[in-house]
Amino acid sequence: MYSTDILKSYKLSITESRIQILELFHESKGALAHADIEKKSAAMFDRVTIYRTLQTFVEKGIIHTIPTADNSVLYALCKDNCEAGHHHDNHVHFICDICSTTYCLEKVTIPKVQLPEGFIQKQADVVVSGICKNCK
Ligand SMILES: [Zn+2]
Ligand SMILES: [Zn+2]
Ligand SMILES: [Zn+2]
Repeated sequence: MYSTDILKSYKLSITESRIQILELFHESKGALAHADIEKKSAAMFDRVTIYRTLQTFVEKGIIHTIPTADNSVLYALCKDNCEAGHHHDNHVHFICDICSTTYCLEKVTIPKVQLPEGFIQKQADVVVSGICKNCK
């Protein structure tokens, strides 16, 4: 699907920054950090534009966030029919120690965690580190 069609299907107005940033996600094999997007868009957009675009995409269910060990955040495309304000991405993420790529392992779902009584789970993030198939 073309980026413009995706934006239309999410009822988002089509702007240059939204198209470009969405295309970066489609070209990338792994998750992207804010800094990667800034670098790859070659100063076409300012930080605020990138930040707002990413926020909009997260809110609309186009991309999801992945927490990192250094308390920053990565972004990756949603492939689990996420909806606005409601993400269904319950897959494991994998970070390669060698190439530092973070992958969405869509087919690997996060196992159900049995919480003690009185605890309510809202979210679970599983990030596995190791060596990816490209670096093996
Ligand atoms: Zn999602
Ligand atoms: Zn790797
Ligand atoms: Zn993911």
